[in-house]
Amino acid sequence: MSKDKKLLQELLADLNRGELKGRNVDIEELFKKDTPQKAVIVENEHSWGKWSKMVVIEHHCPNCNEEVDSVMNYCCWCGQRLDWENEDE
Ligand SMILES: [Zn+2]
Repeated sequence: MSKDKKLLQELLADLNRGELKGRNVDIEELFKKDTPQKAVIVENEHSWGKWSKMVVIEHHCPNCNEEVDSVMNYCCWCGQRLDWENEDE
């Protein structure tokens, strides 16, 4: 379970008890991070000399734009939940 998810559950529990006031947490942000988002596909062209070039497909986090990998369920940089369901492995 991710840190954000745990925090989210604690917040929801507090919310149910009416104790949320005064907690400095952006709930909308947490919900957003816990909603799976598709990684942004970035094609980077690398070239060596005149003739050799190769296109490398990278995936970037839709939230913080850092590079992520399809083995990650959550971005290791910001905790954004990632959705890989349409990726062909
Ligand atoms: Zn991220």
